[in-house]
Amino acid sequence: MKALILEQYGQFCYREIEKPIPGARDVLIRVKAVAICGSDVHGYDGRSGRRKPPLIIGHEASGVVEAVGGAAAKFAPGDRVVFNSVLYCGECAYCRSGRFNLCREGRTFGVSCDDYRQEGAMCEYIAVPERIAYRIPASVSFEQAALIEPASIALHAVNATAVRLNDTAAVFGAGAIGLMLLKALKRSGCGRVYIVDVDEAKLEIAEKSGADRCIPANRLDAVKELRALTGGNGVDLAFEAVGVNETFNGALASLRKGGGLTVLGNVSPKLEFPLQTVVMNEIRIAGSYGCATEYETAIDLMASGRLDVSDCISATAPLAEGQQWFDRLRAREKGLLKVVLLP
Ligand SMILES: [Zn+2]
Ligand SMILES: [Zn+2]
Repeated sequence: MKALILEQYGQFCYREIEKPIPGARDVLIRVKAVAICGSDVHGYDGRSGRRKPPLIIGHEASGVVEAVGGAAAKFAPGDRVVFNSVLYCGECAYCRSGRFNLCREGRTFGVSCDDYRQEGAMCEYIAVPERIAYRIPASVSFEQAALIEPASIALHAVNATAVRLNDTAAVFGAGAIGLMLLKALKRSGCGRVYIVDVDEAKLEIAEKSGADRCIPANRLDAVKELRALTGGNGVDLAFEAVGVNETFNGALASLRKGGGLTVLGNVSPKLEFPLQTVVMNEIRIAGSYGCATEYETAIDLMASGRLDVSDCISATAPLAEGQQWFDRLRAREKGLLKVVLLP
């Protein structure tokens, strides 16, 4: 089969390798679409240390079941599927309570770091345990289905937050996750959702997706704008989908007293913030990592048309052209959201 292999940092090679053989409880999936994640972009050039070459990257994928192992019973060849981006054990205390994202043995597909190496989906076939795969209906295209994983991440962040009816929320970061957060927050009963980014092309997309106000942080003081929009009080909820000092502190400073800050972004391993603001304003900070049981929710929302992710897809391209799309994403091309590669 053909695979896009990261041969050394920054450099892919599209070449022939051996097709995987499914284990007894595996399904062999013919990959139809695989999206490039922000973490892939931060990894392929060596910045994150989590994509050590040689490696097949990719954890946001959809496809068709090609074959099943001898003891696998959930799927049949021809079924359209997606699979969890994390290969969780299914047996530890976290897995047993449905918190798959916290699994003691969890490995993300397409990641190689100091602890493990797990090949990903930027190739023609991947074998995964059937217990982590989900069926997708015909109403969801393979390209859209590749975004079920990032959509689940946005839904998980909303589920990690105590949203109350008519809350006002600010989302820092108008990338694909920020955009899906915006849509999920509207579904969850938020009255107004504001979105902040330095890329005005992305903000234009966010505006069309229903943002009540888009704030270009490259030109305006986002905290001041958010305060003005809330009569000086600050927003009820803030979502940090970037993970650097400026955005974390912006999110924190834009909250009202007693507000909630949900953090998904983690580009910087460490950052500095005013502790006294958190303590004296009784700010609730919640970390949100990956997703747990949100796959089924995301599939249902997409299949029924209640969560449309098509505007998050900037481009689809053959897998063979992966290199140039990684490079363009790394160069932070304006307005470039999700790129979906087709093996
Ligand atoms: Zn991802
Ligand atoms: Zn586990």
